[in-house]
Amino acid sequence: MTIKENISLKDFTTFKIGGNARFFCKASSEDELLEAIGFSKKHKVPFFILGGGSNILVPDAGFPGLVIKMELKGVVYEEGEKTTKAIVQAGENWDGFVADTVSRGLYGLENLSSIPGTVGAAPVQNIGAYGTEVKNTVESVYALDLKKDEFVTLSNAECRFDYRDSLFKKEKGRYVILSVTFVLSREKSLNHSYKDLTEYFGRKHISKPTLAQVRDAVVEIRKGKFPDLTHVGTAGSFFKNPVVSVKKAEELVSKYPEIITYSVNSKFTKIPLAWILDHVCGFKGKQKGSVGVYKNQALVLVNHGGAKAVDVIALAQEMLESVYEKTGIEIEPEVEYVEVGE
Ligand code: NAP
Repeated sequence: MTIKENISLKDFTTFKIGGNARFFCKASSEDELLEAIGFSKKHKVPFFILGGGSNILVPDAGFPGLVIKMELKGVVYEEGEKTTKAIVQAGENWDGFVADTVSRGLYGLENLSSIPGTVGAAPVQNIGAYGTEVKNTVESVYALDLKKDEFVTLSNAECRFDYRDSLFKKEKGRYVILSVTFVLSREKSLNHSYKDLTEYFGRKHISKPTLAQVRDAVVEIRKGKFPDLTHVGTAGSFFKNPVVSVKKAEELVSKYPEIITYSVNSKFTKIPLAWILDHVCGFKGKQKGSVGVYKNQALVLVNHGGAKAVDVIALAQEMLESVYEKTGIEIEPEVEYVEVGE
């Protein structure tokens, strides 16, 4: 395995932002991963695991340690009675894997189509879309536990999944995910009741969509809302949709009757932040120098070319303060800032 020096991280991120990695390598096997971690210990520098680079903001000063790009590849399918297990290496492209499951007639991941990034990153924030979360299909996660210095297999329950959250976020820096085992159904089971999907199928006069049609629908809907990563620098949704108390949500609804909120349980309600950023704070489509808020989706920040991490942080800060000032809601970035010590 080669360890390179002073490698620009810009092109390893979908934001196309960031300085150099002091050291950089690609880990294609368990042994290479251990070798890379050994190097970081020996040279007393921090390390950072890079997946698809689609949900991170790298500082302009770069990363003063070793960036390890996860390149473990491979998918193994094992057929059970009515389900199929997929054991997938962390460096596999997420959407390539989802497309493969759909082409094999396996149900469970179709609503999570078109999400950028790698398989290893999916459990970290329990990726979710259109009424499905990855936790519904994850059987277990195989990881290196840096605290115990051993490989562990964590069950779904041990992963402590929550809305855009998991053990891997709660105990950040402790685990390196090497592979994920999914259990997918071979029996028809689709969830297309999410508003965007019912509207899509209504327009197409499709009452009983197939598995492939659900994937196609999600791909098309996302194309309309999220920028094309091959042309635009972005890390997708920059902020998390906030979950607030029912009382707080009621206050908002009485002030802004057009807002549609979603009940989480008897105590909490989910607020569509894009709506607030657009209708209350007026950020949709706004540009500040080389960064801006995407014209079709106010949760998405865009690098219009040559943006620096500091420009993104300044705009994000302005958005955060505006939302707080106008609604009293404290919002949090979903995108991860790459910092030393993380
Ligand atoms: P959207 O559909 O406008 O939804 C905005 C917010 O309203 C989300 O918090 C969403 O919850 C909630 N919501 C909408 N319909 C709902 C329903 N029927 N029941 C419960 N909650 C509902 O969001 P968007 O920006 O266009 O994104 C489309 C989908 O992709 C959403 O599910 C979004 O969460 C997902 N997405 C995920 C990621 C990620 O995992 N990192 C990034 C970008 C977008 P949910 O979040 O629970 O759907």
